[in-house]
Amino acid sequence: MRAMVLRQTGRPLELEQREDPLPAEGQVLLRVRACAVCRTDLHVVDGELPDIPLPIIPGHEIVGDVLEAGPGVDWQPGQRLGIPWLGYACGHCGFCEDARENLCDQARFTGYQLDGGFADRVLADQRFCFPIDAAYSDIAAAPLLCAGLIGYRSLVMAGDARELGIYGFGAAAHIIAQVALWQQRRVYAFTRPGDAAAQTFARELGATWVGDSDAMPPRPLDAAIIFAPVGALVPRALAAVRKGGVVVCGGIHMSDIPTFPYALLWGERVLRSVANLTRRDALEFLELAPRVPVRTHTVRYPLEQANEALADLREGRLSGAAVLTMD
Ligand SMILES: [Zn+2]
Ligand SMILES: [Zn+2]
Repeated sequence: MRAMVLRQTGRPLELEQREDPLPAEGQVLLRVRACAVCRTDLHVVDGELPDIPLPIIPGHEIVGDVLEAGPGVDWQPGQRLGIPWLGYACGHCGFCEDARENLCDQARFTGYQLDGGFADRVLADQRFCFPIDAAYSDIAAAPLLCAGLIGYRSLVMAGDARELGIYGFGAAAHIIAQVALWQQRRVYAFTRPGDAAAQTFARELGATWVGDSDAMPPRPLDAAIIFAPVGALVPRALAAVRKGGVVVCGGIHMSDIPTFPYALLWGERVLRSVANLTRRDALEFLELAPRVPVRTHTVRYPLEQANEALADLREGRLSGAAVLTMD
């Protein structure tokens, strides 16, 4: 197999040839067709997440076909599956029994603690594989697996908000804005100040209002989702939501949140994070996406150009999602 491997954080990924891994009990070996690039991959590569077991293959928005199934696996060779960020949970702790396996203390994550999809082969736990609707090509489906799933969980946590703010208009926002608009919500898109490309993109998708992240929306929001990893946006979003409104932090990593006056939280405003995803989120969203239908905007890179894809994401040069392809 070929893989782009992180040997040391803060360093570029290196191309490596390896023997194909063998699926153990409950595992499938997939031939990777496409793997989208997520901001969390940057947090891994930059060493912003704790205890990264090096060397590791990043990538957790994987679409592939089953090459080989280990003992006790229900998936069949040839079946197309998606592999998300949550790659393992214990299955018997209190969180797992409550169907909140996203919070399991034993949870392990694809492309962070388990080798991921910046490669042409990947092993996956059969419990965390999801069929992909035939309406999607491999490339178009890949961003659904994280930007879509975690975006969807964030949207659910925003409750029934009709006036919905979205801070950071990248891959997750462009997917979830389509779902929100289909649900008859109004979307207020906040981008990096002066980011004309992202603002045009948000307007084209149907946002009611588009502005800089330091601007106030024309009316109070019912809820806001923050996808940008910028803690300073938390008090801004709290200031933009009405009493009883919700601010959802959708990212795994954020810069420190500055102190802010209690008045911004007062009035029963709620501030919460979203951690990972559950299998239920994956099943619900992957069933919903083709009905909207969610269209993903992708920029394709060959596997060997994973470093270029990461750099373009880091510099904000992408509108939509970077996707690595393996052929
Ligand atoms: Zn991700
Ligand atoms: Zn558990």
